[in-house]
Amino acid sequence: MQELTHYIGGAHVKGTSGRFADVYNPATGDVQARVPLANAAEMDKAVQIAAKAQPAWAAVNPQRRARVMMAFVGLLNRDMDKLAEALSREHGKTIPDAKGDVVRGLEVVEYCIGAPQLLKGEFTDSAGPGIDMYSMKQALGVTAGITPFNFPAMIPMWMFAPAIACGNAFILKPSERDPSVPLMLAELMEEAGLPKGILQVVNGDKEAVDAILDHDVIQSIGFVGSTPIAEYIYGRGCANGKRVQCFGGAKNHMIIMPDADMDQAADALIGAGYGAAGERCMAISVAVPVGEETADRLIEKLVPRIEKLKVGPYTSGNDVDYGPVVTAAAKANILKLIESGVEQGADLVVDGRDFKLQGYEDGFFVGPHLFDRVTKDMDIYTKEIFGPVLSVVRAQSYEEALGLAMDHEYGNGTAIFTRDGDAARDFANRINIGMVGVNVPIPVPLAYHTFGGWKKSMFGDLNQHGPDAFKFYTRTKTITSRWPSGIKDGSAFSIPLME
Ligand code: NAD
Repeated sequence: MQELTHYIGGAHVKGTSGRFADVYNPATGDVQARVPLANAAEMDKAVQIAAKAQPAWAAVNPQRRARVMMAFVGLLNRDMDKLAEALSREHGKTIPDAKGDVVRGLEVVEYCIGAPQLLKGEFTDSAGPGIDMYSMKQALGVTAGITPFNFPAMIPMWMFAPAIACGNAFILKPSERDPSVPLMLAELMEEAGLPKGILQVVNGDKEAVDAILDHDVIQSIGFVGSTPIAEYIYGRGCANGKRVQCFGGAKNHMIIMPDADMDQAADALIGAGYGAAGERCMAISVAVPVGEETADRLIEKLVPRIEKLKVGPYTSGNDVDYGPVVTAAAKANILKLIESGVEQGADLVVDGRDFKLQGYEDGFFVGPHLFDRVTKDMDIYTKEIFGPVLSVVRAQSYEEALGLAMDHEYGNGTAIFTRDGDAARDFANRINIGMVGVNVPIPVPLAYHTFGGWKKSMFGDLNQHGPDAFKFYTRTKTITSRWPSGIKDGSAFSIPLME
């Protein structure tokens, strides 16, 4: 069995803690590798290397740093097939979806090629007599990121690309479920010209995360994952004086107005609800048709589409709509929630509980499920299922539908399907959710905008990527300067008024 490593100081380094986690092939259920789980001493080693390497990297001019990003984009394209295969093998998603995972990260890297422009400071000539004032954006130093299993390429790149373009060193603690692609990305960054020690990958679990949270040298922490862990990391990281941004779970509602094109809405729901087996923080997990007639028409359109879904291993190529979920534990949790939905009185219109795939009986496959007549008090509505399960909550009016999405504790993404521009505009204005789609089911902002939810889906203020990332990964320093010819005689004891 393959033993994975850390990537520290420009080399693959074996784990020394003696602790490992199994990495599965979710399609077969086989353990295909084991990943070392770092202890605090291993984390500290990486931090010391980063701290030593970072000042020289921050001193490299931003244009040259951008060239590393440029070369990295070329290498990602060169190795796209290899990366996608490694990603699908550990995560389970289809190859086209795995390529999408890499490409959405690559786009953030492309945005970071603009670092010289994005890092320009401000200058005021003659802010006072003989006085100039300017500000600059400086790197923080050693930064760190903790990422989830569901986007093992994109989410690490959301973080390390801007961090490194800004002149920081970055330590990545990826998900222990699918650590191979993050290790490959670190190698590629060095092949692109990044000095050793600027991007390191330290694998691990809570022990490694706690070592990050408590390390004096680490200046900032980015986290993406489930809400309870996001809250924990935000609390402990902030208490330790770090800059922290944490992105959590989701329960994304799609509202279907009576005037919507029902075929388009149904197609959108199928892709957004079941794509990647529902393991996306921007998946639609709740459909809210407005009016009984709309609900009946929608269900009628959804059922045959769901029954046609092709579930299988990534090795089946383009013949598969979605693959297995990531672990046996994830599958058990999803099935438990489905049982709770049945027990609590929801109508299970499409029942995938008996789904079996010949030749892959031990894989972590979950058949597609559709619940109708779900109500606000049911666990399948309040909890994030993170599986191929779509819940229909029938609303009698637009206001009731809006209220459902607004009252839910999560606020990552949402969508409205309608032909009425007025309703769409009202929805976009009033909804208390960070990312909104109008006839777009998964409104993930592109790299030059920013990504972030509201409510329990996000802790902190600055979003991922786009201009916010360049704020998150830099500190502003403002200099007021005067040369001898501008200096007045004597001391001044009141606040300077630049006179
Ligand atoms: P997770 O919270 O289990 O793990 C995320 C990271 O935290 C991993 O690196 C893991 O090793 C670490 N971790 C786990 N338990 C920990 C603990 N007790 N203490 C410290 N660290 C711990 O999440 P996951 O299952 O990998 O990912 C799925 C979740 O991520 C879903 O809730 C999904 O909605 C969310 N997600 C959110 C976004 C977003 O942008 N809002 C994007 C992707 C995924």
